[in-house]
Amino acid sequence: MTKLNAILQARIGNHGPISIADYMAECLLHPELGYYSRRDPFGAKGDFTTAPEISQMFGELLGLWLAQSWIDAGQPPSFVLAEIGPGRGTLMADVWRATKGVPGFHDAAKPYLIEASAHLRSVQKATLGGVNANWVGTIDELPDAPLFLLANEFFDALPIRQYKRQKSGWSELLIGGNADGLCFGQAAPSPNTSLDHRLDDTNEGDLVEVCSAMQGVMETVNDRIKTNGGVALVVDYGDWRSLGSTLQAIKSHAFVDVLTNSGEADLTAHVDFEALANAAPDLNYSRLTPQGIFLQRLGIDHRAEVLGNQLSGAALESHKAAHHRLTAADEMGTLFKVMAFYAPNSPLPPGFQQ
Ligand code: SAH
Repeated sequence: MTKLNAILQARIGNHGPISIADYMAECLLHPELGYYSRRDPFGAKGDFTTAPEISQMFGELLGLWLAQSWIDAGQPPSFVLAEIGPGRGTLMADVWRATKGVPGFHDAAKPYLIEASAHLRSVQKATLGGVNANWVGTIDELPDAPLFLLANEFFDALPIRQYKRQKSGWSELLIGGNADGLCFGQAAPSPNTSLDHRLDDTNEGDLVEVCSAMQGVMETVNDRIKTNGGVALVVDYGDWRSLGSTLQAIKSHAFVDVLTNSGEADLTAHVDFEALANAAPDLNYSRLTPQGIFLQRLGIDHRAEVLGNQLSGAALESHKAAHHRLTAADEMGTLFKVMAFYAPNSPLPPGFQQ
């Protein structure tokens, strides 16, 4: 049992069960014992490896995607270049390096990192030494300007609630306690009009997930891009409509028990991209596109070849493996999806098809 697990057991013993969202929020961002508050979980020695940590090509291509989107928007002379949930800061560092040669882009860009964890902010500051970047805790604190936003593996880290469909209404799944520790339980069914849109595609006994923190973020993206212009690119694992439990805990690159590793394992849920689109009703959105296809349309195969020509031996092998990992269907290529949100009256951003 972890220290945070003991604290949550005592709290639940005194005050009753909590929602899965409250449990996730404590596990991920508890100020002293939360997963992201204490550690740098990324990379081979950590718990999971994200695309920007696999290869510089990911950030380079996303940087050029942003630059092209900025050119297509008429090159606004001052804009916010933001990343939400930036981890180690590697993606932003690669974006910044890759866009150095785009005339006017760096002069116009105000880089912002939106990060909740004080510990990861300090890691990002070290990574981004040469970039004149700013940090905020929430997306609402960004200055009012055209917004060009990246979110890679951010939305999966936001707390979700789960509801099971019953004969009459929906039962929320809750986390309570018993003699053995924390356990899942179910609240009594009650009507829930916010789930009316799921009545057509679900049956009694089906489970759906709802991410209200996502809705708050996407409403801000919606308002900013609608008013000032810009684009947002979301990359994450998930699908068009969530059905069934996707809550998972990962530690040292393996799945572990959700309820016993509180604060010691990464807790995530798959992203429901339809819910993202519904939360940004004033924006256009692209087709949900597999990451592998998107990166290939942006030219990853050519870039991989150019970089590969400068390498040999083990470095070349690991470069080839990274290319495969980002794009192959049996690796991240299909599980991870990409979707762009953009201002009405703007062209479809590069890498997507109508
Ligand atoms: N994008 C990075 C890291 C993904 S991990 C990469 O691809 O490597 C999730 C990141 O989101 C971490 O930086 C975590 O601290 C941050 N985060 C989690 N919840 C957040 C919240 N509510 N607001 C802002 N950042 C958050």
